[in-house]
Amino acid sequence: MEPTDPLPPSAVVSTVDYDRDGIQHGFLRLPYSRDDSAWGSILTPITVIANGEGPTALLTGGNHGDEYEGPIALFDLARRLAAEEVSGRVIIVPALNYPAFRAGTRTSPIDKGNLNRSFPGRPFGNPTEKIADYVTRNLLPMADIVLDFHSGGRTLDFLPFAAAHILPDKAQEAACFAAVAAFGAPYSVKMLEIDAVGMYDTTAEAMGKIFVTTELGGGGSTTARTVSIAKRGLTGVLRHAGILKGEVETRATKWLDMPDERCFTFSEFDGMIEPLVDLGDAVKQGQPIARAWPIDRTGTAPFDFWAKMDGVLAARHFPGLVKAGDCIAVLAVMD
Ligand SMILES: [Zn+2]
Repeated sequence: MEPTDPLPPSAVVSTVDYDRDGIQHGFLRLPYSRDDSAWGSILTPITVIANGEGPTALLTGGNHGDEYEGPIALFDLARRLAAEEVSGRVIIVPALNYPAFRAGTRTSPIDKGNLNRSFPGRPFGNPTEKIADYVTRNLLPMADIVLDFHSGGRTLDFLPFAAAHILPDKAQEAACFAAVAAFGAPYSVKMLEIDAVGMYDTTAEAMGKIFVTTELGGGGSTTARTVSIAKRGLTGVLRHAGILKGEVETRATKWLDMPDERCFTFSEFDGMIEPLVDLGDAVKQGQPIARAWPIDRTGTAPFDFWAKMDGVLAARHFPGLVKAGDCIAVLAVMD
């Protein structure tokens, strides 16, 4: 390392050659020395399918380890896509925070790292930060278009949607929303983040990439419907990018906007949640949307949560018990 180099190379070593045509199934190998394996590694599966000139799509799932539509669609794509079908290159990482995915948890069991709050990452950091650093400095620079699958995980449930963010560069923003439309989920969202610092999204967008994310359900599992939305969306985005042949099938999608902080409702109580509306239901400002029952005694009134604006219920807290600070509901507005 030259003294002028700002950072050492990434800790991750890829067993695939990104510049080779054809299909390669391999691993991102991250050395992880520990009690049960002194010179051990984390092996994150990766597939590269390349064929001649064309754009590169970076397709990722399992950024959070308890969200499954993306990993299912991407393990499936990695197995069935033929190199001849591709113009350009597809890089598939079905389970990006692999330790979290193997544990079935949002964050990594190794270091408690939330990968989507660890970007741009650190080459000297913990394993989660090292994964983020590899994505930032090695994978993202190769990509023209990035699709990162999310769902609600164990604690949230979402209307199935693809989303992009309002961006300062309006040409980039328009390209992102065109890719969201090509995904063709039942809902498409102009997304406001509670906590954008450290997100993969923010890093990729700052690098000028076309970035699409999703929320396709939740509760720590999947449904046949949400998995099929993920698979169709993948095909739509790859056709839109010109990597797969064929027309993008136009699908009816409802556009939703998240104008401001009034979208989010957080609990200030511990209790048992009673939903008063379901996902996709229209709500009016001031309408009760859920209530939290005190569970330490009978005879106490529940606390009602009110809609702070007109809209539809786009996400809800999933487990039956709620803690102070939990996100109860997310509202969005029909565009
Ligand atoms: Zn997620």
